[in-house]
Amino acid sequence: MRRLAIAVAVLCACAAAPAGEPPVELRGAWTHPTSWKTRADADRMLDRADAMHLNALFMLVYYYGGQVAYRTDLAPMLEGVADGFDPLGYALETGRKRGIEVHAWFVNGPGRTRKGQGPLEQHPEWAALDLMGRRIDWFDLCQPEVRAYQRRLMLDCLKRYPVASLHFDYIRFPGRQAICACPVCRRRCREETGVDLDALRFTALPAIGEVDGNPLAEPTTARTLVRFENDEPALAVNDLLKGRVVLLNWKPHRWCPVAIATAVRRLLAERGVKEGNRVFALDHPANEDRRWQRYQEAQGWAAALGYTVKRATDEHLAALPAGVAVFMEGFYDMPDDAADHLARHVEAGGVAVFMDGPVFAVNRRDSARRLLGFRRSGKYFKGRKELHVTEAGADLVPAEAGRTLDLEAVRADWTQWTRWRKDQISDLVRRVAEGAPGARPGARVTAAVFRTQEAADSVHQDWPRWLREGWCDYVIPMSYVETPEELDAHFAWWKQLDPSLARIIPAVGAFKIAKDLEGEARAAEIGKQVAVCRRHGAHGVCLFVLKAIDDATAEALGRTVFRGKATPYRPPAE
Ligand SMILES: [Zn+2]
Repeated sequence: MRRLAIAVAVLCACAAAPAGEPPVELRGAWTHPTSWKTRADADRMLDRADAMHLNALFMLVYYYGGQVAYRTDLAPMLEGVADGFDPLGYALETGRKRGIEVHAWFVNGPGRTRKGQGPLEQHPEWAALDLMGRRIDWFDLCQPEVRAYQRRLMLDCLKRYPVASLHFDYIRFPGRQAICACPVCRRRCREETGVDLDALRFTALPAIGEVDGNPLAEPTTARTLVRFENDEPALAVNDLLKGRVVLLNWKPHRWCPVAIATAVRRLLAERGVKEGNRVFALDHPANEDRRWQRYQEAQGWAAALGYTVKRATDEHLAALPAGVAVFMEGFYDMPDDAADHLARHVEAGGVAVFMDGPVFAVNRRDSARRLLGFRRSGKYFKGRKELHVTEAGADLVPAEAGRTLDLEAVRADWTQWTRWRKDQISDLVRRVAEGAPGARPGARVTAAVFRTQEAADSVHQDWPRWLREGWCDYVIPMSYVETPEELDAHFAWWKQLDPSLARIIPAVGAFKIAKDLEGEARAAEIGKQVAVCRRHGAHGVCLFVLKAIDDATAEALGRTVFRGKATPYRPPAE
């Protein structure tokens, strides 16, 4: 019923614009406060937005460090803003004159601070914990007090400023590996769902979880320390002279029991790599398609284990400092020279940690087979798996001998915990949405969200629910891709959720598109992605990010893709 009402309302809204009137289309861009520290900076950004015929700016007003880009008693003004200057106030005032609406963009999850004086320093108990139980620079959104603080902050901004919407971003957890088992989560999760979080962290094997991976099979010189229930290797080591290769035969950054993290730390410590030591995460061109993400995944997992992680490229592989560990994720096709460099590094006392793979290399190259101590690849898997210690792993892997798991019970707990975490995040969205009309009648709530179901699930971001419940007026999936074809592929899921795209506005990752071009040539490439959105009937686009679009390209976009003014799209009220 609601769907039909939306569809009818949208048709009416479009039909209501008579011939000759400007079209209705959201033409938005995100913009960082670093570009708004003085009146001159602000004018430059507004001129650029104006030249492009944008009609909406999503201005970052609450940043990682707890500083704001507007006037309030609740948080300090962003460092470096000119004395007496109010970035948000000025953007609203001058934006209004130019027909540009301004949205207040908040970063909710990360709580990183440079000066050490942000809210997470004042309230260390508000930080989420990582796999090993250490504090991470992320607000624990499962804590009611944290949500109350963020709600107060957002609604206060709305009371003070007539912004077009309160815009959520990073409204999620950093990833599945961050099982926060802080005292508050432990207590509340037990009270509200009956789930014991400690049991789900699996400090000793056996363990069970949802995993996926591209495994290696048939060990030759490698020893299997942990196996899956079907006896395939899960954690293996291959010692070469003085050093060690460690293979995790699945994607541990997505799910990793504490027992495995402990075992990996022990395996590295035996070769001299201790907690806090510098290690490297490889960013190799062989992984180009998803290179940066893979690097970040390897980086994040190694950091969760307690190491100080630096980036290494393939050039670094030839000259890794002696005795260090290098982490590699999804390194499917390892060239011979890379395998040889790694083998030499390991033989001299270093460590190489493979997270998932490298399957192609092992099937094709002797160098990889020798390095890993495996003969061939296994079959890709995804789903529930159990981990059990083997005889060879007995001294290294924490395990409770003879313990059996009630698999169904663990699975049910896991499902409940995931649901609970999603609900905690959704609760902040709901509370802000419910409070917004009281702070300013007609106020809207929007959110930047992950673009695929899998990605959103992996960080417990249940944004389809936010649309269903009417908590968000619209969401903007961050579909930052290089080609129109990639963008096109995302619409199928979005249209399943919202057939008329009344409440889903696609993002266009301008910063990724045709970076080597400028002016009309680059505008044309950006225009191809805008055209995909229009062809699907989207009611606008939001570009990331204003600063990444040079003036010549902005001017060309204003003459071509965004020719003439447009009235900002606003979804129909529920
Ligand atoms: Zn917690």
